[in-house]
Amino acid sequence: MKSEDKWLFAGAALLGGIALLEGRRKAHAAEAPRRPPPGVRLPVDGLGEVRRIQDKSDPAPGDIVTVRGYQGEQVQLQRCAATRYQAMLAAARRDGIQAPLLELTSGYRSAAYQKTLFDRALARYGSYAEARKWVAPPGTSSHQSGRAIDLKMSTRYSNDSSNVSALRSEPAYRWMERNGARFGFAPYSREPWHYELHESECRAAGQGGGTMNLALAAGAAYLAFKAGVI
Ligand SMILES: [Zn+2]
Repeated sequence: MKSEDKWLFAGAALLGGIALLEGRRKAHAAEAPRRPPPGVRLPVDGLGEVRRIQDKSDPAPGDIVTVRGYQGEQVQLQRCAATRYQAMLAAARRDGIQAPLLELTSGYRSAAYQKTLFDRALARYGSYAEARKWVAPPGTSSHQSGRAIDLKMSTRYSNDSSNVSALRSEPAYRWMERNGARFGFAPYSREPWHYELHESECRAAGQGGGTMNLALAAGAAYLAFKAGVI
């Protein structure tokens, strides 16, 4: 290698290395968002639940994104919830929770769709009082915010009111119990498959991935350069 080439090589290696490190830092920052500082507990309501969604208004149309769900279904989520969910899923996969576990079975639901679900529950449970224990009447579901998610918890038991205790002993549920809050997702004791991202979690902006893509492109350019030199 000529001395000129050596300097070029060293320069490219340095730039590529910085770009890759920056990419890793950004990826990590996106993955572990706003963990509460030590000693700070997530707010809980009177029932001991971690604070549930209060603002159930629909997301702005431009703020609804589509994510691949269970069995390839297209599930819509509010943009911030989608980013958090995908980071959480990636972390679960690294910890050995395999597909289809923790895939989305439901996300954003319009009031009209919620009415269809509630009518179905009325037919199944026979009374308004019993049906609303399991399905929120239209206009009252946290799913209307686009920040509530239902997850595939088990390959043996379906997400059903008759399987609540069985689902709580499944590895995917245990993983969510330990890790859901790291990504801002709060549980709901009555439905072990249901998690919510409180509106306060989504107020801070800036969850883009543009810088990371640039860093990866620079890293790839470095590798191509390296291949050409050697
Ligand atoms: Zn739900």
